Amino acid sequence: MRVINLASGSKGNVTFFEASNIKLLLDAGLTLREIEKRLELINEKAENIDAIIITHEHVDHIKGFIPFLKKYNARGYIHKSLESRVLKDLPQAIIDKISLIETYDFSIGEVKIMPFELPHDSISCLGYCFMYKDRKVAFATDLGFMPKLALDAIIGSDLVYIESNHDLKMLRNCKYPYIVKQRIMSDHGHLSNNQAAEIVLRLARHGTKYFVLSHMSENSNTLEQAYLASARLLEDSGFVLEKDVFLRYSRQDMPGNNFNFGEDKND
Ligand SMILES: [Zn+2]
Ligand SMILES: [Zn+2]
Repeated sequence: MRVINLASGSKGNVTFFEASNIKLLLDAGLTLREIEKRLELINEKAENIDAIIITHEHVDHIKGFIPFLKKYNARGYIHKSLESRVLKDLPQAIIDKISLIETYDFSIGEVKIMPFELPHDSISCLGYCFMYKDRKVAFATDLGFMPKLALDAIIGSDLVYIESNHDLKMLRNCKYPYIVKQRIMSDHGHLSNNQAAEIVLRLARHGTKYFVLSHMSENSNTLEQAYLASARLLEDSGFVLEKDVFLRYSRQDMPGNNFNFGEDKND
């Protein structure tokens, strides 16, 4: 199993996943050209992508989705509540390439996909676990808080991509209008660094070793602030970083760490 985030943040989200000869993208929130470029950076080709799975309909997750399906052979997977929004005015040939999913497990080849609902200000928002053999990776970004059902789904993952969107103090003082700040802080907005840290700690206590702090705000967060919030809580709770738990972060401008499970070592 191989996982690499290609872009993360409010300007676009794409993650590459590979297992058992299946190559997937989770979200396609960059332009088609930029998705092709980022795939080239990790020595992958867009024409070899089997499927694109979408979390929700915000533009930073879906921008390149339809252009990608128009150009390449991949299948698309979206929540059924997005049918009228996303499939509107599309040619039948493209509609036929899109599967409408609910929060039930499904498989692509030998990869098992487990969607779960997240609270966010979109029509619907899904997190996912991708499982192959005894390995499991979870993705939870774009959520105002972590519901118990979602946490239960994620527990036991080898690797978790978790949103660490903003530092509360920086958000309060940044240039966003009040209404936008309220939205981000709400139960249907985004996780703060401290909220992310609490979730990281709970998952680490259940055995997860690898975490990637994700979807960081460019205006109300820094890589250091996000990292320190989780790192301090883990260390205060007795975890040794780089031994018990490995904390990484994904970036907006370039691909992140390459995780290989069951094969080579992670970098
Ligand atoms: Zn987003
Ligand atoms: Zn969103």
